Amino acid sequence: MSSTKKLSVAIIGAGMGGLATAAALRRAGIDADVFEQAPRFARLGAGIQIGCNAMKVVRGLGLEERLRAEAFYPRSWNNRDFDTGAVRFDMIFGASAEERYGAPYLLGHRGDLHSALASAVPSEAIHLGHELTRLESRPDDSVVLTFANGKVAGADAVVAADGVHSLVRDILFGTDQPSFTGRIAHRTVFPAALLEGQAIDDCTKWWGPDRHIVIYYVKPDRSEIYFVTSQPEPGFSVESWSELGNVAELQAAFADFHPQVRHVLAACPAVHKWALFDRDPLPRWYDRNVTLLGDACHPMTPYMAQGAAMAIEDAAVLSRCLAGVQRAGVADAFRRFEATRKPRTSRVQLGSRTNTWLKNPTDPDWVYGYDAWTAPLAA
Ligand SMILES: Cc1cc2nc3c(=O)[nH]c(=O)nc-3n(C[C@H](O)[C@H](O)[C@H](O)COP(=O)(O)OP(=O)(O)OC[C@H]3O[C@@H](n4cnc5c(N)ncnc54)[C@H](O)[C@@H]3O)c2cc1C
Repeated sequence: MSSTKKLSVAIIGAGMGGLATAAALRRAGIDADVFEQAPRFARLGAGIQIGCNAMKVVRGLGLEERLRAEAFYPRSWNNRDFDTGAVRFDMIFGASAEERYGAPYLLGHRGDLHSALASAVPSEAIHLGHELTRLESRPDDSVVLTFANGKVAGADAVVAADGVHSLVRDILFGTDQPSFTGRIAHRTVFPAALLEGQAIDDCTKWWGPDRHIVIYYVKPDRSEIYFVTSQPEPGFSVESWSELGNVAELQAAFADFHPQVRHVLAACPAVHKWALFDRDPLPRWYDRNVTLLGDACHPMTPYMAQGAAMAIEDAAVLSRCLAGVQRAGVADAFRRFEATRKPRTSRVQLGSRTNTWLKNPTDPDWVYGYDAWTAPLAA
């Protein structure tokens, strides 16, 4: 019987959500093993906006000072017209937002956030080279996991943070049918020295009629610059962090944008591309002692820059739901997790779809004001 045993938790995927969950569970006194398919961690060339809501979770994991030292602290998130540069809405962050929302808004390198989260998990608890291939729930509610390398593991509770192509989601609920938006995102991080001294904005989204580009610094000393686009490209449908794009095609696609944008694209040495898919909120996230978390259950287009933030919030809420729970209570804890989180993540998923976030004066309190450590849990 498991009634007096320590709860054993297996997390599938050591991305943003999986690592944040392992760290948050440790904070709640629960040890978890994380199983990641990749043989090693790679530093992906991408930036990430770490909203005040995510930063509150990060603070609880003891990582705030590290990220403040590594990321850029913007005074605002500016929104400008693509050609004239007219300001549509300058969303002020900096000290006033920090005071209002209780945490800073940071712009970082995705690799820095990932490394920070990994540092909060003991390395012996992270099992690289473990691609989950099979998952089986036993009559006693324990779960058996089988990996492509031949290893087998058992757990009282499984958290599947295995991302947008979640195998566990397919096993539990069948394969989903995402709808391709007909659009792609180009993105890259490169040394700001390549701008050869020309000044650019700290952080601006340039809004065109059918495309946009977001450009911001990801280092406190403005030494690295990131951009991400959204533009039509109906013939490409690969969702991958490693697919390469064509810089000349990208420059041509933004040839009528503001000189600042053209200067950044002219300086850019290489670029990746990612097809943008849209998915509806899932009817259910858990089955018995297995739950989905992060992109596995609420994948979204990146237009509110909240995908990782939602996964990180999930981690804090899940740790609160699982605190003090034994194997027999896991399914109910997962039910409570889903009931607490789904209204919020669905709202963000559906809001992201419209690509209107901060385009015009917007009240963002409901997004950045949320605190996953104290938000009421569902009954
Ligand atoms: C262009 C773009 C820009 C974005 N910008 C932002 C932003 O500014 N701010 C923000 O908050 N979010 C942003 N996002 C969203 C964010 O990247 C995701 O929401 C976030 O990475 C989700 O975290 P996750 O842990 O759920 O999934 P992931 O980070 O994708 O991690 C999933 C992990 O599971 C592993 N895995 C998968 N299958 C298996 C298996 N079978 N066995 C073992 N391991 C497995 C994968 O290798 C991976 O490590 C952006 C996304 C895109 C595409």
